[in-house]
Amino acid sequence: MGDRDKTKAQLIAEIDRLRRRVAKLESMSRSNAREKGAPASTAEDARPGCIRSMTEMEGPVLMQDRVRNILRGQAVDVEDLGLADVQQLVEELQIHQVELEMQNDELLRVQAELQAMRDSYADLYDLAPVGYLTLDTDGIIQKANLTAAALLGVEKGGLTGQPLVLFLFEKRDTTAYHDYLHKLLKTEEAQACDLRLLRRGVSLPTSVSGRRVFASTSHTLASSEAQGRMPFHAHLDGIVIYNEHKTVQGFRITISDITAQKRAQLALRESEARFRLLAENARDLIYRYCLLPTPKFEYVSPSALALTGYTPEEHYADPYLGFKLVHPDDRHLLEAMTSGEVSKDPLVLRWVRKDGSVLWTEQRNVPIYDDDGQLEAIEGVARDITERKQAEMELLESEARYRRLVESSPDILYVYSRTRGGIYYSPRVEAVLGYSLDYLYDHPFLWWDSIYNGDRESVAQAVENFAEGQRIDIEYRIRDAEGNLHWLHDRSIGRRIEGDEIIIEGLATDITKSKRAEEALQQAHRELAIKAEALEEANQELTQYAYVVSHDLRTPLRAIHNYVDFLHEDLEGRLNEEQQVYLDGLSKAVQEAEALVSDLLELSRLGRREGSFESIDTGLLLQALIAVMDLPEDVEITMEGSYPTLNLDEVVFRQIFQNLISNAVKFNIADCKRIRIGCRVVVDMEQGGDIAQQAAYEFYVRDNGIGIDPRYHKQIFGVFERLHTAGEYEGTGIGLAIVRKGVAKLGGTVHLESEVGQGSTFFVRLPKA
Ligand code: ADP
Repeated sequence: MGDRDKTKAQLIAEIDRLRRRVAKLESMSRSNAREKGAPASTAEDARPGCIRSMTEMEGPVLMQDRVRNILRGQAVDVEDLGLADVQQLVEELQIHQVELEMQNDELLRVQAELQAMRDSYADLYDLAPVGYLTLDTDGIIQKANLTAAALLGVEKGGLTGQPLVLFLFEKRDTTAYHDYLHKLLKTEEAQACDLRLLRRGVSLPTSVSGRRVFASTSHTLASSEAQGRMPFHAHLDGIVIYNEHKTVQGFRITISDITAQKRAQLALRESEARFRLLAENARDLIYRYCLLPTPKFEYVSPSALALTGYTPEEHYADPYLGFKLVHPDDRHLLEAMTSGEVSKDPLVLRWVRKDGSVLWTEQRNVPIYDDDGQLEAIEGVARDITERKQAEMELLESEARYRRLVESSPDILYVYSRTRGGIYYSPRVEAVLGYSLDYLYDHPFLWWDSIYNGDRESVAQAVENFAEGQRIDIEYRIRDAEGNLHWLHDRSIGRRIEGDEIIIEGLATDITKSKRAEEALQQAHRELAIKAEALEEANQELTQYAYVVSHDLRTPLRAIHNYVDFLHEDLEGRLNEEQQVYLDGLSKAVQEAEALVSDLLELSRLGRREGSFESIDTGLLLQALIAVMDLPEDVEITMEGSYPTLNLDEVVFRQIFQNLISNAVKFNIADCKRIRIGCRVVVDMEQGGDIAQQAAYEFYVRDNGIGIDPRYHKQIFGVFERLHTAGEYEGTGIGLAIVRKGVAKLGGTVHLESEVGQGSTFFVRLPKA
């Protein structure tokens, strides 16, 4: 039913309904607007349009007033209006209702948007990575976000009304906190501070006296309470907030947990301190050399002084000190490094120390680049390797020395492995075998193959024995490149074991020449032995012959002697002078012949004598001998010193000294013929064996006679060797031959010291044992 069809009563009822509806919408609109904080839009603001339409239709003032009055709830005498007016009033109210409803919808939409924004703001606030706290000027928490609650280990909402001072870790944090709030209050500018806060476990007091809590320490935790709870490092950023009177109303503070950062800082500081300690005490030189913006030493460890003679300060003062110190020959290496060629391998450099001596270092450098990739600095460690370098150089030198020795050695030095053959030969091998070194290395078993067939087995045995630990010392023959045989004396001088291999280090000497000489010598010895045998035989025969001849001659000579004596007796006084001379000559000749035969017989007897050795007091024997020799008056014999008792053949001993003493008397023209006899102990170095075996008794017979020219010292010991005619000194020339043979029989030697006119001393050396 349209409004026009309605009765006036119905329309009045409709006006009443509409009035209530509009009133309700307006109140809703107002409350919505209040909630949004937007200036309240009233139905009246929206009204002019409607009023205008009404005015247009019915006259502005009247309709406006009517509608306003209706809306104000004032009683409008609708009853008095005509139906048309009532109908128009209803329409006006309906339009107004629609407008209000539209306005209300808009308000609801805006309200929903605002709510969504408020929610997201609340999320942002709560879930911010930092804690937000709003404190009043007493330090009581007015508002806190979720992060702040989580940081302090309290449920959301649990912080409100609590003083922040409750969450400070210890006294110095409280002090820092108080100072901080004071500073904020004083400056009214943004301030930051770091302190330690406690997380959770705090039994919060149920009520806190609200006054100036932040200035009091009475609520900080006792340290026992704090024990076992985790303090954390917090960074606080804060500003003051004002009320509408522009006076400070409190603080807005953000809290960030910087524990990890603090720990990292601490660890960094500790490690820096540790490394500095290491650097300061290291023997190596540790440095940081900055290249940008200008070159300079940024750090040089104190060891610089010991290494270079320059203090770290001297390094700091002169950025180019390194270039001045580096050895001229190594400067290019240092320049290359500072121009960016920083090698990962250690750099070996020489430097000239302050005292002028040379320092060798081995350096490890690390290039440090800036953000643009430019070489900014070089950090490094330099180690003094002077001693090592010197040792290396000495080693090289000694190696070179030994190489020279090895290469110039007349021996072949070699290294040989049974499995690999020849590994090394010194150059001498080329001269001996006639193969080049290259050829030998190409044919590692050539040496082995060149060994003379007949000797190979013994060489193989020697190598086998070497493997079992014995030394090699062997002579064998080897064929050279031309097929000639060489004798080698091969001996091991070293042994090396490499894995399963036993390696021989040896020395081979070409002994071909000495081998030949030795062979020749042996041949000569053999020939000599044959000759000696023949000689011995001849000698035996001769001795036999001499014995037979002298023995057999004795009888006819005795007969001639007798007959001459008879003639002397029978023709006494009847011979003329010439006949007498002949007969005397005959008599003398017979005597000499007899003496000769007698001496010869004595000599040959001595040669044939088997010898009976017995213990004899040589001193007593000599005294007895002198006593029976019936020496002339002008002879003075002195026996000096003491004499040993020896085990020897008495007859031979006697013959030796009888001949020496009689010669000392015979070849003496001194008025007083002084003969001195003695014995002493000597050591004969020419004898082999030890000192005891070298010791001997040396008897001597010294005279002051005519002396003997040294030219004849050897000759006079021969048979019939005389230096004088029978007219000068009589004799047979056999005496000293008997001496020599007799001394040899006793195992001794004889020699003399004499000069013409100086007397003679004959020495007879007999073995002590
Ligand atoms: P003989 O005495 O019969 O001549 P020896 O064989 O005893 O023969 O001596 C050889 C020679 O050595 C002597 O002829 C003499 O010339 C020399 N001679 C030996 N003993 C002495 C001596 N004591 N002083 C000097 N000459 C000596």
